[in-house]
Amino acid sequence: MVSPICIYGNPVLRKKSIPVSTVTEDIRQLVNQMMDAMYAEEGIGLAAEQIGRTESIFVLDVPSDADKNEQGLPYNPGVPMPQAFLNPEIIGASDAMETADEGCLSFPKLYVAVTRPAEVVLRYMNLQGQITVLSAKGLLARAIQHELDHLNGVLLVDHMSPAAKLRHAVRLKLLKKQGRDRG
Ligand SMILES: [Zn+2]
Repeated sequence: MVSPICIYGNPVLRKKSIPVSTVTEDIRQLVNQMMDAMYAEEGIGLAAEQIGRTESIFVLDVPSDADKNEQGLPYNPGVPMPQAFLNPEIIGASDAMETADEGCLSFPKLYVAVTRPAEVVLRYMNLQGQITVLSAKGLLARAIQHELDHLNGVLLVDHMSPAAKLRHAVRLKLLKKQGRDRG
């Protein structure tokens, strides 16, 4: 059975994740569950909290051609997808910021303009247990920052301006109730 996605209001979404010490069979299984849940909802990323777990893991499947430069080349060549990121940590970020609409599987049908650094450098452990450093820009950089937020208990709603919160107040209230009832 595919794990259901935890919706805003579910207290697990506010938990801080716990680092993974070694890649065990359990962790590999969790990653498979996370991928299945992400694909079932047609997402491009998912954090462990979103299926009710607190390991420091997110998975991504950002299309490699999501962003292209002026020469028509992808922004992030050679980054294998899908991929699991264990104990991820941002170790560098550009001063340049970018604003774009973001969605989240824990906030169905809600899209919010979020401003974030345009480029980030991520250090993480892969499923082979190797420490890896990745530079990302475009949608991949945004997805990394969004999922990392989840691992720190930070949610899309925390990035909303007071005006946006007011605009989406009814929807947020409804979601929060749903999430609490199910969670
Ligand atoms: Zn999310």
